[in-house]
Amino acid sequence: MELWNARWRERALPELAARDWDLLVIGGGICGAGILREAARRDWRCLLLEQRDFAWGTSSRSSKMVHGGLRYVAKGQIGLTRDSVRERQRLLGEAPGLVEPLSFVMPHYRGGFPGPKVFGGLLSLYDALAGKRNHLFYPLQQLRYLAPGIREDGLLGGTRFFDAVTDDARLVQRVLGEARAEGAEALNGMRVVELLREVGQVVGVLAEDVETGKQYRLRSRAVAQATGAWADRLRQPGNGRVRPLRGSHLLLPSWRLPVAHAFSFMHAADGRPVFVFPWEGATVIGTTDLDHADDLDTEAAISKEEVDYLLAACAQQFPCAEVTCGDVLSAWAGVRPVVVDGSAGLKPPAT
Ligand SMILES: Cc1cc2nc3c(=O)[nH]c(=O)nc-3n(C[C@H](O)[C@H](O)[C@H](O)COP(=O)(O)OP(=O)(O)OC[C@H]3O[C@@H](n4cnc5c(N)ncnc54)[C@H](O)[C@@H]3O)c2cc1C
Repeated sequence: MELWNARWRERALPELAARDWDLLVIGGGICGAGILREAARRDWRCLLLEQRDFAWGTSSRSSKMVHGGLRYVAKGQIGLTRDSVRERQRLLGEAPGLVEPLSFVMPHYRGGFPGPKVFGGLLSLYDALAGKRNHLFYPLQQLRYLAPGIREDGLLGGTRFFDAVTDDARLVQRVLGEARAEGAEALNGMRVVELLREVGQVVGVLAEDVETGKQYRLRSRAVAQATGAWADRLRQPGNGRVRPLRGSHLLLPSWRLPVAHAFSFMHAADGRPVFVFPWEGATVIGTTDLDHADDLDTEAAISKEEVDYLLAACAQQFPCAEVTCGDVLSAWAGVRPVVVDGSAGLKPPAT
């Protein structure tokens, strides 16, 4: 099999660069992969260029959830929730084994928000959009079976509901594979240096093979930028700009904090929702949300403060586990591309 190896690349690059494309996609994360697949399904001649490896960016560093958008219900954004639920159900159907249902538990504490009634109401609407009832309130005694070791101080019970989980990097590979099966091409190690313009119109890109430094001019009827947090680098100066926000996770061996469900709760320090969830045989704690000032060419990394914040969340919800820094197997950090209008002090919208 010669495809995608060095020999194929050496031979294919000049030939691919010389073609006339209908669409060039810049960025090999989930957005770029999805755009490529949809274009290929419409018989467009299309090529994706990724500067590092496929899914190197945020699409391998997320919380791995395929949300139906429960938080959108809480904000009254019913149309958006309906779309998210529909997409979640479609992915569950299209990619069994890669996108799987995940059971969530939201514990309810006396005086805490949301209480079981409010939360149950939101979930009824959420389930109605998915077409089936899929949540249940468990009083304390029963909750103990679902959530051994959970903080019981003031605990009334918990609501169990369902969303879905995936391996985000594998999902990108899967979508790219489907795009290639439909006739699309995708190259990693190809950095787009600039957009080529003629009479004010984008007509292609100048791309560099990061292995050899060799540059290629590629022409296309359309160019799609799916560069996530890196988007400002290729965009013309305008009103909008990307504010990179970092989110990090800790990975623990599952025996150290065995959880059979994803636990969703508010961090005592700032009221932000945080998760403890089972993933690929381990337990994950996430996530943080803070400005990312580091160079985007360097892989994003968790800070000491974030480690402390996530361990504090764990101690808050599972005090008996006494998880410490020494228990952490690994960590990952991703950068959210949040678009803001540039006003000083503007709080970024939730992604
Ligand atoms: C901490 C965290 C948790 C999250 N959790 C979830 C979740 O649970 N569920 C969910 O649905 N979403 C989640 N998200 C959001 C989700 O991960 C992102 O929306 C998604 O991954 C963005 O995909 P993308 O393709 O736009 O960007 P990316 O995956 O970042 O892809 C952009 C790609 O473009 C490439 N690139 C940049 N510049 C160039 C160039 N000049 N030439 C060539 N290539 C270039 C980069 O190398 C990169 O690979 C989370 C995000 C974060 C940060």
